[in-house]
Amino acid sequence: MIFYTKEILASINNPAITVVAATKYFNANEMRELYNTGLTNFGENRVEILLEKQRELADLPITWHLIGTLQTKKAKKILNSIDYLHSLDTMKLALEIQKRRTEKLNCFIQVNISSEESKHGLNPNEVINFLKDIKELDKVNIIGLMGMAELTDNEEIISNEFKKLNNLQITIKEKLNIDLLELSIGMSNDYLIAIKHNATYLRLGSVLFKKEV
Ligand SMILES: *Cc1c(COP(=O)(O)O)cnc(C)c1O
Repeated sequence: MIFYTKEILASINNPAITVVAATKYFNANEMRELYNTGLTNFGENRVEILLEKQRELADLPITWHLIGTLQTKKAKKILNSIDYLHSLDTMKLALEIQKRRTEKLNCFIQVNISSEESKHGLNPNEVINFLKDIKELDKVNIIGLMGMAELTDNEEIISNEFKKLNNLQITIKEKLNIDLLELSIGMSNDYLIAIKHNATYLRLGSVLFKKEV
C-alpha cells in the first residue's frame, strides 16, 4: 500500500491539527505501515475490530479513537480501551460512560449538521440541553463537537454545514460559558474546507492511501 501521509500533512500545514487515520480500510499490518509513516492517532468504527487491532498492535503507542456509532450495549467492552470517543449523542451512552469508565473519557458530541437523512447525532438545537444534562457526569469529558457534512462536491453546502458547528460553539460560550474549541470535522472529501472552519481533528481515510497494483 502506498501512503500519502507526507503530502497530506503538507497540505494541512498546521501542527495544531490532529490527523486521525480512519482505519476501517486497513488491516493491522497495514496500520503498522501507516504508523511508520508518522501517524499515531487511529480511529476505528467498530468495537470488535478496534479491540482486535489493538491486540495486534499492542507494542505501538497508538492513541485510539472510536469514530463510529457506539451502541450502549457494546459500550462496556470498549470504554476503557479508547482515548477518544467522537460519537457521543445520547444520554444513555453518557450514563454508561459514567458508570463504566475508570478515568475521564475525552468525548466529542456528535451533531447532525447534514440535511441528508441520518439517525446519528443530536440536532444543533438539542446540544445546550444535553450539555446541561450531563454536567454532573465527571467521567464524561466533553472536549468538542463532531460533525459529518453531506457527501457532495458543492463547497457552499459543506461550508454552511460546518458553520452550524462554529455557530454552536459561540452559542455554547454565550449560554453556558463553556469553551468547546475542539472540532472533529473533515474527511477526505472536505478536509480543506473543514480547516477553514476551525477543524482541530480531521478524520481521514481514503485520501491517505492508494492500493498498489
Ligand atoms: C470512514 C470514516 C471517515 C473517513 O472517511 P474518508 O472519506 O475515507 O476520509 C471519517 N469519519 C468516519 C466516522 C468514518 O466512518
